Amino acid sequence: MLDLTGKVVLVTGGSRGIGAATVRTLAAAGADVLVHYGRGEDEARSLVAEVGEERATALGADLAQPEAGAVIFREALTWRGRVDVLVNNAGIAPTVTVDAPDDAWADTWAQTLQVNLVAVADLCREAILHFRTRGGGTIINVASRAAFRGDNPDAMHYAASKGGVIALTRSIARGYAREGILAYAVAPGWVRTDMAEGYLREHAADIARDIPMGDVVPPEEVAHTIAFLASGLARHMTGATLDLNGASYV
Ligand code: NAD
Repeated sequence: MLDLTGKVVLVTGGSRGIGAATVRTLAAAGADVLVHYGRGEDEARSLVAEVGEERATALGADLAQPEAGAVIFREALTWRGRVDVLVNNAGIAPTVTVDAPDDAWADTWAQTLQVNLVAVADLCREAILHFRTRGGGTIINVASRAAFRGDNPDAMHYAASKGGVIALTRSIARGYAREGILAYAVAPGWVRTDMAEGYLREHAADIARDIPMGDVVPPEEVAHTIAFLASGLARHMTGATLDLNGASYV
């Protein structure tokens, strides 16, 4: 098992899905974890109780609100006085058709870009400002295979937001490597979580045919990948985006 003892990690959207699997994996590897949640306060608190209150704490904020990203990071610093690793996992995947009313189209784009990209950039910015006072730190951003492959045509805003996350990650890696700041992205294909559940149920046969491994990604595998990146065992991979898709590449 990787040893993350002593590392303080902030996981956004840590209350369920990939985020909750990540919190469990990081805590099992010895990290102290801040479990950020949007709406799932009860889930976040029961996860903290499961992990142990001496090792985890819950932190709520709606990333759809401008400036929430900066506020969360600053609040996170008050728990242990530092953050060593930021995992930007929170995200949304609404759909909208091209023939939807203008306001529905505009709202979907604005909300998706705010939560999936602008809030991520705001959190990264705060992390960089903090990390540079400490000689380094690690950022891990959850992107998506959709960034490379496109997505459902009713979710092009989602694909665009995740493409932005990958470009953001690489810019940070290149720009701040000399200050010891590392940035990685992970790009999962379908992962079995609440976000994907409905679609996976409806399109099970097509999805299984499309994935050479024949199965969608378990959230724990994304969590293990994040833990590996957080460990510092492969620092020179900074800027990389790691695929998890059962060989269903573009
Ligand atoms: P999920 O819906 O189970 O969890 C999403 C998390 O984000 C939740 O904890 C939720 O509270 C949080 N969140 C959403 N909107 C928020 C807001 N406005 N403010 C604060 N928190 C908010 O989804 P998941 O499948 O675990 O997704 C996690 C990440 O993985 C997302 O970034 C998603 O885009 C990405 N991803 C998922 C899949 C998949 O197939 N499930 C595939 C590729 C990438």
